[in-house]
Amino acid sequence: MTTRDPGLASPPHGPATATVPPPTDGSVLEIRCPADGSVAGSVAVDTPADVAAAAARLRAAQPAWEALGPKGRAKHVLRWLDWILDNQERLVRLAQEESGKSWGDASFETLVATEVINYYTKHAEAFLAPRSARPHGPASLTKKLVAQPRPHQLVGIITPWNGPIGTQAMDAIPALIAGAAVLSKPSEVTPLSWTELTRAWHEEIGAPPVLETVNGRGETGAAVVDEVDMVAFTGSTATGRRIAARAGERLIPASLELGGKDPMIVLADADLDRAVGAAVWGGMHNAGQACISVERVYVEASVHDEFVAKLVEKVAALRVGKDAPASYETDIGAMATPAQLDIVERHVQDALARGARVLTGGRRRDDGLFYEPTVLVDVDHSMACMREETFGPTLPVMRVDDAEAALRLANDSPYGLSSSLWTKDADRAQTIARRIESGSVNINNALMSAFQFPLPMGGWKSSGVGSRFGGASGLLKYCRQQAVVSERIALPGEPHWYPYVAAKSLLQAKAFRFLGAHDWRRRLGRTPR
Ligand code: NAD
Repeated sequence: MTTRDPGLASPPHGPATATVPPPTDGSVLEIRCPADGSVAGSVAVDTPADVAAAAARLRAAQPAWEALGPKGRAKHVLRWLDWILDNQERLVRLAQEESGKSWGDASFETLVATEVINYYTKHAEAFLAPRSARPHGPASLTKKLVAQPRPHQLVGIITPWNGPIGTQAMDAIPALIAGAAVLSKPSEVTPLSWTELTRAWHEEIGAPPVLETVNGRGETGAAVVDEVDMVAFTGSTATGRRIAARAGERLIPASLELGGKDPMIVLADADLDRAVGAAVWGGMHNAGQACISVERVYVEASVHDEFVAKLVEKVAALRVGKDAPASYETDIGAMATPAQLDIVERHVQDALARGARVLTGGRRRDDGLFYEPTVLVDVDHSMACMREETFGPTLPVMRVDDAEAALRLANDSPYGLSSSLWTKDADRAQTIARRIESGSVNINNALMSAFQFPLPMGGWKSSGVGSRFGGASGLLKYCRQQAVVSERIALPGEPHWYPYVAAKSLLQAKAFRFLGAHDWRRRLGRTPR
């Protein structure tokens, strides 16, 4: 865990109480709530030397952790879950303070961690069990074949700011349960709640020292990539490319969960009320700062106007602002950073300049980093709001002639993370879903595919490489596969060993040809004319 100078940095587990301002040399990150600018806490920045020292401690602890086996490891992780549930309100509050989310949105943070822990502790033993295989071919008949998953010793988990607890949990928990040690690097924008969870792992439940969190900006993340045996990265496509390049140089595996521009397709026979509700929650959850947000909507012409009217009514009714813990008084929180707010504003202004219309919202507020939930119409693919990731509370809606036009536009993107498809025709939905170029499709829903742990969650095209979850794959991605081949019958020697003897080798060659060929002519060694 990060070594902190108590004289400089406040403890990572609560709002800062220090009256002394942090140093200005960049060695401490002071975290302010984007909703009201109040100080939420601070953490010390870890240097590459700190990261290397953490990696060395984790490597020393990992063999004993792996030796505990899935059941032994699950005991510690489940005690951690107990602690999370006992401290849920405080953790959600910390996540809310550092991210500016509404209470309702922030509550998903601990919910995700709870669900991931329960799913993977329940199935770990089965998912990590050695897999026996039948030998293939006569030369292997006497062999016993087992594929044995063995964890990478040290896994790095690097995450963005939109899910301060949940996104770390989605990757760090499966990696720990797989038997790896984990070096976490949360976002420099929202490091507090995951750092607190890491403190609890050590100090509150006394779990083995196989989880450490290092804090800092991109340099700290780069130092993590330089130390670990495998990296699971979630964040922007630009950073993902840099991490992939460095992982390539180091020859370590990297799984990359990157940006998205998820389309929603609404066909004429859709349940419009449900589709509108999903568009609002799917597009505005976390103020639109979710990788799998609904970012653009294509509606078949015959229902476009009705859909838009219902959408505007619902979006205009959303309550924006910071709410008190457990009050659920607002729906939509703040943008996490001024830079993110600028992107949203630029996309709306660009759309307006190119002929789009704002039907509700379309303005930043001056009482915090809030942007009003916005519906845009008359949009097209020349506009940034339809091509670049907005990551904000905007829903640009485009009228399309038919399903073919919607599909063409949905696939006209460098991204391919998730998507949402609306029709009452179940067979047609399956046919259309197979033509959407994205890692997941929600039929008559939005966002939910990301939380179906038995299924993979991963991006196609520039949205990523690899996936998380996917049943056993969610643990096996943190493992190397060791092929263990043993002899059922130990003969004095193998027929193919040295020395080669012409008579014996020719006989073997004939036997292999006889067994390997698919027709009698070749079995008997006759060559084709
Ligand atoms: P970002 O790429 O700027 O930062 C992500 C993390 O990478 C941070 O912790 C940062 O410190 C670290 N980092 C930066 N440079 C690095 C480097 N050279 N080496 C190693 N680490 C480095 O992303 P962001 O702005 O924090 O997050 C928003 C992005 O995350 C959006 O594009 C969003 O779509 C994406 N995202 C994707 C998923 C998914 O599952 N596909 C989930 C959530 C967010």
